[in-house]
Amino acid sequence: MYHLECIKCGAKYPADEVIYTCKKCDGLLDVVYDYSKIHLTREDLKGPLSVWKYKALLPVSGEPVTLKEGGTPIYHMKKIGAEIGLKEAYAKHEGMNPSGSFKDRGMTVGVSKALELGMKSVACASTGNTSASLAVYGARAGIPVIVLLPQGKVALGKVAQALMHGARVISVKGNFDDALRLVRELCIENGIYLLNSINPYRLEGQKTIGFEIVDYFGWEVPDRIILPVGNAGNITAIYKGLNEMKKLGIIDRIPKMTGIQAEGSAPIAKAIKSGAANISVEEHPETVATAIRIGDPVNAVKALNAIRKSGGTAETVTDEEILNAQKMLAVKEGIGVEPASAASVAGLIKLRNMGVIEDDERVVCVVTGHLLKDPETVIKNCDKPIEVEASEEAIEKVLGIKKMKVKAK
Ligand SMILES: *Cc1c(COP(=O)(O)O)cnc(C)c1O
Ligand SMILES: [Zn+2]
Repeated sequence: MYHLECIKCGAKYPADEVIYTCKKCDGLLDVVYDYSKIHLTREDLKGPLSVWKYKALLPVSGEPVTLKEGGTPIYHMKKIGAEIGLKEAYAKHEGMNPSGSFKDRGMTVGVSKALELGMKSVACASTGNTSASLAVYGARAGIPVIVLLPQGKVALGKVAQALMHGARVISVKGNFDDALRLVRELCIENGIYLLNSINPYRLEGQKTIGFEIVDYFGWEVPDRIILPVGNAGNITAIYKGLNEMKKLGIIDRIPKMTGIQAEGSAPIAKAIKSGAANISVEEHPETVATAIRIGDPVNAVKALNAIRKSGGTAETVTDEEILNAQKMLAVKEGIGVEPASAASVAGLIKLRNMGVIEDDERVVCVVTGHLLKDPETVIKNCDKPIEVEASEEAIEKVLGIKKMKVKAK
């Protein structure tokens, strides 16, 4: 029903071969289905949103390892939309997944696949959420988990999750790109299953974000999907999935895939702007949005293709713009996300002000992880709680309430 295929030289590999890049040219791999054998219609897809609703387009045959991921809410951003003159601005809150980020969509598929392939342990390098999610799904599956984290650069909530769910947590004295290089070697040499987004099976799960978006709008494809870009797996996966739906005749067009990166960590946005065929690695990526603090995105080639072929674009935003957008989402819309997630909304605002996004566009921002993932950044950017004595007068005083004594009859 499906096989692995190199996106560069077209070499094909059987679905059950444990392989992460092409043996001939080191190119990235895609899961390619025999689409003539998949009969899937809008009618078949009635019912509530969830990852496993789209099983016909997922590479798992048996019972999956699941915690009921997906089915995340889409919120109409009425106030932020009004401020930038855009009626149809939406946020899909991926922080509402079981471990609090979209990584769960990839891990439910990836860990199911690991078991199907008979692997005995799983591993990843992570800016945080991948490790949290893998720890959760590893626990669910009963398979040992190893995670490599860049020392001192992972948000508190994410480390807490990886530790509590029982992963072996290794703190590497280097950045994410170093950790990824090391875990790739570790996995290939020791027969451990690698679940970074270079793993094509994991990306299959993440494409369900796109499925849910078009499904939610009754198969009316939005004009644009905006998302934060780190390793660039997600933008790639969503684009691939929507192309498959188009191939099957379920949708009729592809939204403009729009990637947002932090200014200090923007190899993909820079390549899109300069028209370069490939990225130049950012040796010292820096941003408050630690989930997208990646200088050498493994899925760059796929992502550049997704952005260009869909007529989308990529843009950078400053840390200040990211933190402002995080606060706007929280205060004006009641949507709590971590800094990286707010990059998509910061990008929406910037692209709208630049005139790139038109008045009548329907735009969906993917907000990728929950506010509580990174409490330290929040505390730094909000006023401290006001301390008072334990009396009503003291509270009224700080609240500026003047007592209007109502006489009891
Ligand atoms: C992983 C992650 C990203 C980046 O996704 P990529 O697929 O690596 O581009 C963005 N935001 C959050 C919260 C993440 O956890
Ligand atoms: Zn190849």
